Amino acid sequence: MRKYPKKIKIIRKALELQKFSKKMLGQGKSIGLVPTMGALHKGHIHLVETSAKNNDVTIVSIFINPTQFGANEDFAKYPRRLQADAKLCAEAGANIVFAPEPKEMYPQPLQTYVRNAELENVYCGKWRPGHFAGVLSVVAKLLNIALPSRAYFGEKDFQQLHVIRKMVFDLNFPVKVIGVKTIREKNGLAMSSRNEYMSLKEREAASSIYAGLMEAKKMYERGIDSVVKLKGIVEKKIKQAGGKIQYVEIANKNDLQPIKTKVSKNAVILLACHFGKTRLIDHLEFF
Ligand code: AMP
Repeated sequence: MRKYPKKIKIIRKALELQKFSKKMLGQGKSIGLVPTMGALHKGHIHLVETSAKNNDVTIVSIFINPTQFGANEDFAKYPRRLQADAKLCAEAGANIVFAPEPKEMYPQPLQTYVRNAELENVYCGKWRPGHFAGVLSVVAKLLNIALPSRAYFGEKDFQQLHVIRKMVFDLNFPVKVIGVKTIREKNGLAMSSRNEYMSLKEREAASSIYAGLMEAKKMYERGIDSVVKLKGIVEKKIKQAGGKIQYVEIANKNDLQPIKTKVSKNAVILLACHFGKTRLIDHLEFF
């Protein structure tokens, strides 16, 4: 039987959370942090459960970070349901939900950003200018506020996980970054808070993303290592289902440098596409 904490505390203020965390660390307790933007689904919950299993205290942050959204993106319509999310966090074993208002996180406009100068303009970064500077800066703030021993991120946002790991390495943040595997719908579609923007028909069509990735994997296992051919099959499957491709690229999974000709075993396919108005991302590692 899973142990549910009786209630979960919602903290709104950065200083209050920082004080709480200092106290916990002073008592020798380990802290796990799961940063999210809320509208929690089973993918998020898997992160929370993983943290709760491995830390004395688990903090889930729920903050829809305005600085990582572009002007024409979905900041205003992003789903918001704090109370339901807090209940899910409690059931998954979290102790604290940190849900600051934008004004609490940004009492003044930022003048100081964390950027990955090399990777912020490629893959998703090419299509979302400023996105990764927004993500890295808010994650840096959350790490400094929550003071976690371990921080949990989904492999689903593959480029995001990579640039966060690199930030922590480059800037000596005293935290262990843990990547957690992608949780998918029965039809293979990676779970995402944005899936709820789609109609049932679009969701079904979007299962072609995973089908395309699996097809590429099978081809690779049959000995086909041509980047053009492997990208081609993924693009074809998505287009046939009515999706609109932003990019499909193959990169080295350890440094995200592009692979142009032949796929080797450390490769990952990264992609973004639209079904209807909904932007979806996914990836597949070749083992
Ligand atoms: P978000 O709320 O979309 O910013 O996501 C918060 C965290 O949950 C990020 O580290 C995501 O990578 C992770 N995440 C989102 N969807 C999934 C999923 N389907 N499986 C595993 N982790 C996920």
